[in-house]
Amino acid sequence: MSDASATPWERSKNRHSMRDFARRLWWALDQSKEPGGEEQGRFRSLRLCGMSSIPGRATVELHRKDGRAAAVGAVSCGSTWGCPVCAARVRDKRRHELQELVSRGVEQGYRWVFITGTLKHERGQSVAQQRAALQAGWKALTSGKQAQERRESGAVAGTIRAIEFTLEGPAGPHGHVHALALVAPKLRVKDGGAWREAASDEEDERALSDAMEAMGERWKSWAERNMDGLRPDDAHGWKWELAESAKDAGNYVAKVVDGDGWTVAHELTRSDVKRGKGGQSPMELLALAIADVQEHGDMTRFMRFSEFVLATKGMRAIVVSRSLTDVLGKVDARTDEELAQEPEVLGDGWELVAVITVQEWRALVWEHGVGTILDAVVRCGKGWRADLSRAGPEKRAA
Ligand SMILES: [Zn+2]
Repeated sequence: MSDASATPWERSKNRHSMRDFARRLWWALDQSKEPGGEEQGRFRSLRLCGMSSIPGRATVELHRKDGRAAAVGAVSCGSTWGCPVCAARVRDKRRHELQELVSRGVEQGYRWVFITGTLKHERGQSVAQQRAALQAGWKALTSGKQAQERRESGAVAGTIRAIEFTLEGPAGPHGHVHALALVAPKLRVKDGGAWREAASDEEDERALSDAMEAMGERWKSWAERNMDGLRPDDAHGWKWELAESAKDAGNYVAKVVDGDGWTVAHELTRSDVKRGKGGQSPMELLALAIADVQEHGDMTRFMRFSEFVLATKGMRAIVVSRSLTDVLGKVDARTDEELAQEPEVLGDGWELVAVITVQEWRALVWEHGVGTILDAVVRCGKGWRADLSRAGPEKRAA
């Protein structure tokens, strides 16, 4: 099955199946760390995702509509780095949120600049070290006197930033920052200590270019000072591009949300994953890791993926600056965990197929996997149980 021909539900089912498979591996890893500690362990939220119930709920409901199915009442881990199901949900919702912000800006005459910032790192530098460096470097750029001046001039009125990682590349894991900067309709320039509006388009353009270059210089010199003299190179360390149209700006949102190759809408099915020359997105690595375990019983990649998940724990993929919401207004303030929940109200036209106790749901998920259960609900409706017993328990993880 090629990915281009996969329906949205097939891709969704594939994500559920990936999570079901990873669940057992994480369970095994946690068990080996803490014998008997069912509710403990470093991968607790990931392995309970979709299986445990939301606190206070006694039942899980299965619904279906138009070739889709949903389990309402099960808890979601909200991990945009480790969980294929939550990553897709959260990023999809963030995409809408950012699209809304970008449109608001365009409607009010603001402009958008797309920025990519990378740091140079020594081979073998861990994801955790890179994460810390990227966060600190970005903070240095967006705080302090220079940042204040950029806000006052309108060159960077606010930012939306995402951190992305490419894994298994030629130089090991590599993180970078994608950002959208909000630029005022017309920049202000400092003239004899006082701000005035740019007198011409040329002056406005120059002021923006100067501000972006100064920001890039600060990024690179910060790295040089804080990363053992490793100055990012001029070609890749700092890139910026002014959106020429609203459509451009919209495309940038996709880059911020999906990073390089993390396209939720085009997620790869396992058989489609090929080794990219430049490394993999986290979810591509997970797909490869699962294939390694299934085909050869080889846990090497899965362990690498698990280390990545631990190193990115709690890190929000996308952050909207307060200065930006001050200008354009608030957007959805829900956390990733909240966004990852299945909606309590699924909207019109959903058929309630079953209401089951949480205990029974846990047992069913452990035996069959959420992907298989929801697929039975899609195909057989109220006959889902009979369909599951016909299929028998899913082949267990190695
Ligand atoms: Zn999850």
